Amino acid sequence: MINPTPRVRIAPSPTGEPHVGTVYIALFNYLFAKKMGGEFILRIEDTDATRSTPEFEQKVLDALRWTGLTWAEGPDVGGPYGPYRQSDRKAMYQPYAQELLDKGHAFRCFCTPERLEQMREAQRASGKPPKYDGLCLNLKAEEVTARLGAGEASVIRMKIPTEGNCEFHDGVYGDVSIPWDSVDMQVLIKADGMPTYHMANVIDDHLMKITHVARGEEWLASVPKHILLYRYFEWEQPVFMHLSLMRNADKSKLSKRKNPTSISYYSALGYLPEALMNFLGLFFIQIAEGEELLSMEELAEKFDPDNLSKAGAIFDIQKLDWLNGRWLREKLSPEEFVARTLEWASENSRLTEGLKLSQSRISKLGELPQLAGFLLSSDVGLAPASFAGLKTSPAETLEILNTVQADLEKILEWNVETIDAELRAVSDKLGKKLRVVTPPLFVAMSGSSRSLPLFDSMALLGRSVVRQRLKVAATVVAQMVGEGK
Ligand code: GLU
Repeated sequence: MINPTPRVRIAPSPTGEPHVGTVYIALFNYLFAKKMGGEFILRIEDTDATRSTPEFEQKVLDALRWTGLTWAEGPDVGGPYGPYRQSDRKAMYQPYAQELLDKGHAFRCFCTPERLEQMREAQRASGKPPKYDGLCLNLKAEEVTARLGAGEASVIRMKIPTEGNCEFHDGVYGDVSIPWDSVDMQVLIKADGMPTYHMANVIDDHLMKITHVARGEEWLASVPKHILLYRYFEWEQPVFMHLSLMRNADKSKLSKRKNPTSISYYSALGYLPEALMNFLGLFFIQIAEGEELLSMEELAEKFDPDNLSKAGAIFDIQKLDWLNGRWLREKLSPEEFVARTLEWASENSRLTEGLKLSQSRISKLGELPQLAGFLLSSDVGLAPASFAGLKTSPAETLEILNTVQADLEKILEWNVETIDAELRAVSDKLGKKLRVVTPPLFVAMSGSSRSLPLFDSMALLGRSVVRQRLKVAATVVAQMVGEGK
């Protein structure tokens, strides 16, 4: 067969703040397409209806656009294999599920969530990994028809071989072998008719003519399920490439608890997208010291999928700072620097909204930097002294900061009203008045007790910056508690 044009994709799920890990994988795919003369496309995987939101989808698109990556097809630009959002493709998956049922590769399962929970509980208790036990695997056709006729809820699961191993070649890992008996009888279609990630992902990769699937290593264990689906449908499978995850300096998995992971955090702090892409691109290529400052074009030139960097992808913020500084100093003309700075300050209306909030609170314009500067600042300089004037004790302040930090994560849509409602709920939960809960938050956000209205400020700062400031504040106050201040 003549090699088709390589087609690769990034397939984010809009279930949270756009993550640097998504951009890392997107960049790999983009460089791959550029290098191979192929196409890079974007698909939104929102089969998890409870966790996916339009706000997050918009943010994913905005974040990817901010990075400077471009895609040939996607929900925003269309293309020949659309729609590019899985929830808009719901009806397309059903005939494929039926095909698997007809061919005997899948079965209806009527087990209730309660029964499955009991089953898992028993498996856990006996030290076995949780896995569907196959109760519905051999139901008679008449029984299935009768139970469906009676309106009983059901899902469709795939059958899995009971013996042998699934062997495949991964473009990064090499030869992989996974025993079939470790693979679960995956649900393909949920009770509400929505496909699961695995089902939609394979069907869409096939229909969208994806030739290479490059994604994070957390998906490696799912490959047997995917390969089996390709076999059941008698489709050619793509080449798989599983990239090692980015890690913190201590080798732990990059998570927002340790380091900010949202793209919006890095854009809010004034990292240039070019520098962030430069930083992430270095994880893929082999270069000598002194050659690190690279544009996207240069990264693509040096990118070689057969000769990937062997070094782990350590998310070293100091290196990112160093590269960003070099980009600011060496790659921008003074005019560009000024233009980019103004553009950055105006992002998300921080500047204009911050000014409007300040108007009634100053007697001369020169007070503005002091009053509203925290909206743009990358570090508000929190120290024990910042919290010393509060009426709450350090222990109480810490409890407030920690509870607020945890509970703000529950907000799906980040705006003044939802922040307001959540902070009132937190106050009730803590059994404190709202006016007791807010002063520590004022300090955490602005470094000062005299600043702009709290809820508006938090909305403008954005959830990733708020998360980080609360975290820094909690660290400072925890120190005070430890020292008995
Ligand atoms: N929706 C999956 C994710 O968010 C995509 C995994 C894949 O690329 O297959 O990571």
